[in-house]
Amino acid sequence: MAALTNNDKISYKVLVIGDPGVGKTSIIRRFVHNVFSSNYKTTIGVDFALKILPVDENTVVHLQIWDISGQDRYGVMTRVYYKDAHAAIIVLDSTRERTIEGALRWKTDLDQKVTLADGSPVPAILLANKCDIDNKLGDDKLYDLETNNGFVGSFRTSAKESVGIEEAFKFLANTVISTEQGGQYDVPFMNREGNVNLDDNTTHSRYDSKCC
Ligand code: GDP
Repeated sequence: MAALTNNDKISYKVLVIGDPGVGKTSIIRRFVHNVFSSNYKTTIGVDFALKILPVDENTVVHLQIWDISGQDRYGVMTRVYYKDAHAAIIVLDSTRERTIEGALRWKTDLDQKVTLADGSPVPAILLANKCDIDNKLGDDKLYDLETNNGFVGSFRTSAKESVGIEEAFKFLANTVISTEQGGQYDVPFMNREGNVNLDDNTTHSRYDSKCC
């Protein structure tokens, strides 16, 4: 495996967007602090969090995670928040069908307002959250949403039960690093199929989860 060069500390800006109440703040808090609470205050504007992911012995990735309020859709501020983003996570609530349409609008808004430096779309994954409650969204439908709308991946998640979230963030980090390295670097925490090498040496498919 090629080593990352000149990149002892890599920093990426990751946007987390989606309709109000889909679970954006909960997902970030689960990923960053491994906690869940059922009564967060609604995000107004934008919140920030930092997660440090070790990549190899010499390298860590700093993910600057931007939690963008669902109320700000189509607002003038999203263009400002999106600026210089390396990646995006778009969240829907798998118990509320209209948040699917919302997620697709967010994807369109993102693609219209920001690109990577080379003009290509910002890599985005789709999270179907709250899979601990309901599974109205079948695997085929989720896959169709992913492939028909330019997402680089999709995951079922539960912030409450801690399902799929670490896998999703690591998959996205891997995608960004690989893109920046011209596809020449395999991040150790992922295998070539995009599956996550978990600590207990089991692997989970991107669409699999423990509860859905
Ligand atoms: P945001 O507005 O998108 O940031 O959504 P929040 O993170 O504030 O979550 C909205 C509500 O959904 C809160 O009551 C959360 O406790 C709840 N919630 C978030 N994620 C999950 C989940 O995975 N499962 C369940 N059952 N509830 C969740």
